[in-house]
Amino acid sequence: MERIREIRVHRLVGATVDGGWPSGHRPEDDLHALVEVVTDQGRSGFGSVFTNYQLVQAGVQTLRPYWQDESAIEPERVSEKLRQSAFWQGRGGTLEHVISGIDIALWDLLGQVSGQPVARLLGGFYRRKIRPYASLLFDEPDVLVERLRWAVGRGFRAIKLGWRPFGRRDARFDELLVRTARETVGPDVDLLVDAGGSEQFWPHGYKWALRTAQMLAAYDVGWFEEPLPPDDLEGYCLLREHSPVPIAGGEVFTRRQSFQLWIERRAWDIVQPDSTKCGGLSEARRIAWWAYDHNVQFVSHGWNTAVGLAADLHLAAALPVARYVEFLTPAPYIEELTVEPFVLDEEGYLQIPDRPGLGITIDRDALQRFSGA
Ligand SMILES: [Mg+2]
Repeated sequence: MERIREIRVHRLVGATVDGGWPSGHRPEDDLHALVEVVTDQGRSGFGSVFTNYQLVQAGVQTLRPYWQDESAIEPERVSEKLRQSAFWQGRGGTLEHVISGIDIALWDLLGQVSGQPVARLLGGFYRRKIRPYASLLFDEPDVLVERLRWAVGRGFRAIKLGWRPFGRRDARFDELLVRTARETVGPDVDLLVDAGGSEQFWPHGYKWALRTAQMLAAYDVGWFEEPLPPDDLEGYCLLREHSPVPIAGGEVFTRRQSFQLWIERRAWDIVQPDSTKCGGLSEARRIAWWAYDHNVQFVSHGWNTAVGLAADLHLAAALPVARYVEFLTPAPYIEELTVEPFVLDEEGYLQIPDRPGLGITIDRDALQRFSGA
């Protein structure tokens, strides 16, 4: 059996995009890393982690006794072993983010070794293509108009707008932003709104969220994401019941168990695990099926890298119901990290890769360029 020989961590800096936080952003911000699992046969599988380089390095070294010489082609068992072995170092959080990347890389390796695309190994192709939504930040109205025209011009037929300044000034300004967006893209482009309630010191509660949801409904917005602080379970349950637009959330959670109660309580209409945080493809798939069996929609949170997007595409292919994947753009760690870029077809869809593994080829020159060396 092919075994894990080494796990390398690749830093991604120099082209980090604005995440919408109030402190602003620099291209040198260290938010994502890639892990490369190398086997004793010299094969490499790639995973993505939504955590900075130093923490990923520390996590990989902390977990070394549990992955060293383990099978390179049994992602579910090995990532569950890492998860259960990390008990004393804290369940969830950084170590779960690190396990996410290792898990994705092991799925990539299983696919390469077996000659099958990951989607087939996850259960099979319910679909061969899916609509990506362009994930953009809100901005002042004139800037917003330009950004939206650019995204529509690139072929996106679904767009999400999120974070500042929406929800940070007053209700009139929020409505101006959403009206501007709808008027710019017209009635045929799906429009989604993300309040970014997991920002630190989020000030809004249920009443703000309900009133804002009613405003969004008037502009035919497809969902309202993170309108409340991420742990306000009762607030989400109440809002989901009374909001005229679907409520989405869950991007910050780790481990499948964290999602269970929220799905059982129907706290969200749409659950959004991030496969580069929640525990990888193995854990995201379990969450997705738990959601499916409670008739809660699943849409991956995908504010990460080309490896994360490829993982999301394979999982979306292998679920009975799937509507979108998130496509952060413009984003060099997505659009410049693979040899063949992701290309939208004329109807605004992305093909699910059908080559073995994740079906992408990492551009080693780009990895070097983003390493900060
Ligand atoms: Mg979000």
